[in-house]
Amino acid sequence: MGDESKYRISLRGRIFRALMGLRCLSPEGMAEYARANTAFYEKFYEGHATYDFDNLPVLHKKAIKNVSPYDLLSRPFRDKVVLYAESTGSSGSPTPSFLTELEFKAAAMMARMSPYSSMMKEIFRENRTCINGLAMEFTIAGLSFMDLLKSLGGLVANVGSRSTLGTPERIARAIARLKPAIIACMPVDFLSWMRIVKEDYPGEYPEVLRNLKGLVSTAELCAGSRRRAIEKEFGITHVDTYACVEGFFTIPCPCGEKHIPDIYHTELFDSRMNPLPKYGRGRICFTNLAKKSSPLVRYLLDDTVTISRSSCPHGFRTGIVPHGRYELGVSIGGTSLNVEDFEQEIFKHGLFGGYEVKISDKSLTVTLEKYSDARVPIKAISEGLAAKFGLHATVKPVRFGTITRYREVRDKKPLLRLIDGRKSSTQNIPEYL
Ligand SMILES: [Zn+2]
Repeated sequence: MGDESKYRISLRGRIFRALMGLRCLSPEGMAEYARANTAFYEKFYEGHATYDFDNLPVLHKKAIKNVSPYDLLSRPFRDKVVLYAESTGSSGSPTPSFLTELEFKAAAMMARMSPYSSMMKEIFRENRTCINGLAMEFTIAGLSFMDLLKSLGGLVANVGSRSTLGTPERIARAIARLKPAIIACMPVDFLSWMRIVKEDYPGEYPEVLRNLKGLVSTAELCAGSRRRAIEKEFGITHVDTYACVEGFFTIPCPCGEKHIPDIYHTELFDSRMNPLPKYGRGRICFTNLAKKSSPLVRYLLDDTVTISRSSCPHGFRTGIVPHGRYELGVSIGGTSLNVEDFEQEIFKHGLFGGYEVKISDKSLTVTLEKYSDARVPIKAISEGLAAKFGLHATVKPVRFGTITRYREVRDKKPLLRLIDGRKSSTQNIPEYL
């Protein structure tokens, strides 16, 4: 945040946005394209008219559970796709995605539509070194962030984050030696690596901090309050992107919002899959209007989000707040809540470490990691939680490392932050985290 003049959308970003708009089909047009060119949609839309878009079946992940990935690959693109990725498969059914070289490059081009890209270019004038620790396991996150950093002028060290070769201690050593300007990774990894640098290379730590200008993160939900607390602690700009391997991603903006690019047609549904108005809170379903190689039409991403109109000074029209995986949501007093609702409240008071919320019939118990030496405002946090959720709240501060095993190779995403211990719990824990 701060000086707004360093943020602008480059000419290339603006041209790309206009070209992208020209490539988009209508939702009905994309549904018809998918039906005419893929084995899966031909069968899936049997008995349906693609011009009647709102009555087409919504694509749930389970519908493609036993489907060959090639059935989703569109025929004209069989010889043109160069990459294959798949989602983690939260319900045991990974969603396949194929990409052409152009579609892969489009991710970096789309990122240029973010006003943050001018700031990153500016940073690289002083120091080009980047550490990229985003996942490579079946996803293209690591690859596409590398591509973006390179295209803006960065020098990239890909270090991974979940492998026994790129252990946290080895990555921390690389940070201490390379003194990067930008680190791209999940917030949990960033906090872990920086803690090890501080402990194992105390002499280098101040210099590392002086060089570090930005954290680019994705793949871990990070509430706005937590993002701002991380910025403050490390004196950096934290650019957090909401993106999914299925090919949905948003444009992070210095206005504080995440914007939905025009290539997506989004719809919201309630818990019974009744359609909701375009703006508001619900389960998100999207249609990619530009990606023809493996089309996703009315695909239920199954995150709970809030979509709103935006009055962004950079000209974006829609903002989105992800609240968490739908299947991990909880209901308190008839209100559906998710990770972000709790996180926003917990981190309002300047903390940002790991945490865990246990919900019982009458109370909330929040275990909260202290990252820095700052005092934990236990009273303010528990009163805030009690006021917001109507349950008695107990806050237990613990030292960093109690929840976040920061020296160990991470074996899961920190997705399970809410644990509903009530009989009424509807939480459905994913097979892979
Ligand atoms: Zn904006």
